[in-house]
Amino acid sequence: GTKLEDELFRVKQILLAAQITCKVSGSLELMKTPLLVENVLSMCLKEAVTNVVKHSNATYCIISINQSAKETSLKVHDNGTGLDGDKDWSKGHGLRGIKERLDFVNGSLDIHSNNGTTLNIRVPNVIQ
Ligand code: ATP
Ligand code: MG
Repeated sequence: GTKLEDELFRVKQILLAAQITCKVSGSLELMKTPLLVENVLSMCLKEAVTNVVKHSNATYCIISINQSAKETSLKVHDNGTGLDGDKDWSKGHGLRGIKERLDFVNGSLDIHSNNGTTLNIRVPNVIQ
């Protein structure tokens, strides 16, 4: 298995233990993703799911992984309380850590908060 597959296996178990229903969609066969990018995505997945368990009070979590010719995307959605954009960013290190690592591989992080929280992470397949 790959790094991302291993991490996905772990976060599924964490969600199961927290009694949060988990659904995974998309393909894990990341053909074009450099190892560095895959490591960054694994770290982002771990932090995103840790936050769902710690903060969201959600009953389900949807993890989607998709790849196009140009980029790989990872979405983590929960149906919990949502977060307060400006205020919550400065509370911990997790979200900032995600952002810093993504900057390093020219990736991006968007957070939407309606009907819970959605983290949308995108990374180009070629590191410039
Ligand atoms: P750390 O990650 O450093 O252990 P943390 O989890 O509090 O601490 P962040 O991961 O940066 O820090 O998250 C910042 C804040 O955003 C959290 O304290 C929480 O209030 C809010 N938050 C993050 N993810 C979610 C989520 N899925 N649902 C609801 N609130 C969230
Ligand atoms: Mg956190």
